[in-house]
Amino acid sequence: MPDITWELFEKQVEACRLCSLCERVHHKVPGQGDPHAPLMLIGEGPGQDEDEQGLAFVGAAGQLLTRMLSAISLPRERVYICNIVKCRPPGNRVPTPEEAEACRIHLRMQTWLVRPKVIVLLGATAAKNLLNPEIWITRERGIWTERKGVWMLPTFHPSALLRDETKKPAAWEDMKSLRKKLMELGLYTDIYGQE
Ligand code: SF4
Repeated sequence: MPDITWELFEKQVEACRLCSLCERVHHKVPGQGDPHAPLMLIGEGPGQDEDEQGLAFVGAAGQLLTRMLSAISLPRERVYICNIVKCRPPGNRVPTPEEAEACRIHLRMQTWLVRPKVIVLLGATAAKNLLNPEIWITRERGIWTERKGVWMLPTFHPSALLRDETKKPAAWEDMKSLRKKLMELGLYTDIYGQE
């Protein structure tokens, strides 16, 4: 995708009518953060707060995610955050496989632009679409997979942690594992400059 730019990406998402999710949204939610972050986090889809503001992970789940990143000394503005679908599914339902597939073109573009070294898959929808359609997130979270030089970590979606506090210890283990991986790859101290 040699001619792709962030400007073109934003325009394409804004104009996109590839699935019916765009019909009832207030704003598209392409994603935001450091455009060249070594760490990319991918969730499921925008919720109500995100739809109203046009920004990813700004509601209660987003605030929890910010605290989780902060707990391993990662400033949120130094990572890139987005979702599998860029339009809010009605009632926050899970995007259908067809909707996720339609929106894949945008995710491919932004992954190409960011070129992350590490991707965290937040929740089953992201993990199923990008890692393994059969993945059982409760059992297989926390297991690293390398694809074409990019390390991928499935973990719980922060909204699942808000619904079920018993998942938080496992999520914390995943955050520590993320920190360790970033350090092993020379990304943590070199890029974030903190320990
Ligand atoms: S969810 Fe994605 S594919 Fe569907 S209309 Fe929105 S931007 Fe386009």
